[in-house]
Amino acid sequence: MTTLPTPLRLPLEYPVFCEAGAFAQVGAIVRQAAPSHRIAVISDDTVAEHHGAALLAQCPAESTRLFSMPPGEREKTRERWAQLTDALLAWGAGRDTAVVALGGGVVGDLAGFVAATFMRGLPVVQVPTTLLAMVDASVGGKTAVDTPAGKNLVGAFHNPAAVVIDPALLATLPADVLRSGLAEMLKHGVIADASYFDQLLQFLPELATHGAAAPGFASLIAGSVRIKAEVVAEDTREGGLRQILNFGHTIAHAIEKVQRYAMLHGEAVAMGMVAEARLAEQIGLAGAGLATAVRGALTRAGLPTALPAGISIDAVIAETHGDKKARGGAARYALPRGIGEMEAAEGRWSVPVPDEIVHAALLEQVP
Ligand code: NAD
Repeated sequence: MTTLPTPLRLPLEYPVFCEAGAFAQVGAIVRQAAPSHRIAVISDDTVAEHHGAALLAQCPAESTRLFSMPPGEREKTRERWAQLTDALLAWGAGRDTAVVALGGGVVGDLAGFVAATFMRGLPVVQVPTTLLAMVDASVGGKTAVDTPAGKNLVGAFHNPAAVVIDPALLATLPADVLRSGLAEMLKHGVIADASYFDQLLQFLPELATHGAAAPGFASLIAGSVRIKAEVVAEDTREGGLRQILNFGHTIAHAIEKVQRYAMLHGEAVAMGMVAEARLAEQIGLAGAGLATAVRGALTRAGLPTALPAGISIDAVIAETHGDKKARGGAARYALPRGIGEMEAAEGRWSVPVPDEIVHAALLEQVP
């Protein structure tokens, strides 16, 4: 019998494995966590080219099939969901099928939504291959597709049967995509743990020298997963606390929408974190210096914090009114009191901020 890696000790109903070499155990983990007659591996063409063969080699050839699609956010659609579910039906997949999502957050969200809906629910094992998907998208059970009206507007909560994180898979990831994930890791530090934030900052030179293979990176990834897991475990359906994960994201989503998703998500999050830290200072929640500290950390991680040249601030503000946290047309923000501590706002975890203040904060970030 194969010995599986030891899962992280997390307050979740499913195991999360996180260590270098864990990828070699995906086949065994699927057999244990999602025993099934067929295995549908859903991936994108880039990831499949790098890591598909090594995964397929761990699964029985006669009952496993790879379903691959072109890479990119543009593929996270209802149309792609329909094409994938049709392909599963044509293959003869039934309720005894397990889905393995091998890829970044796009594949994870889409394959997760296929699993959530196909015959009213198949088990899915998430095998994230980007840093962002490892520390964020693969944990928490949110699955979705985008629509022309916005991102993630059609989806379902569907917990994975297991999550397998192997930092070694990051070796093939382009440097800018790796950096994009660092924004979410720094965000986890800001929302929950100042010492984790410092640890991450101290590790950045190591990462710059050795890349994702830097010894110690797996435990920092695990630290980030722990923060996310602790938040989602307390608030599985995003009724309250989970909103703190949205720090930086009200502005980030608005920037992404105005820019028609022409930038990496983590880059928009970096800009949003600086702007929202400034909002926290401006409305008197946080002391002076928070935005400077956040900006300094993001800059050291190689992330952009100035707004894209020529972007319309009015257009960004207009988009914040469509945010999922908006109430009665007024945008709400999940804001920090300092590094490691978020504003509880009488249990609501988000506060309204007048547009004029948001405008002033964004103006400071014009290049
Ligand atoms: P992505 O999935 O588009 O991946 C980025 C690019 O990297 C793609 O071109 C992909 O082919 C390539 N790639 C992935 N892994 C690779 C590897 N190991 N080697 C080489 N290339 C690789 O982007 P992402 O940043 O991982 O995910 C963004 C998505 O995640 C968004 O759709 C977002 O909505 C979603 N998301 C979901 C949650 C959630 O809780 N469900 C949380 C955060 C983000």
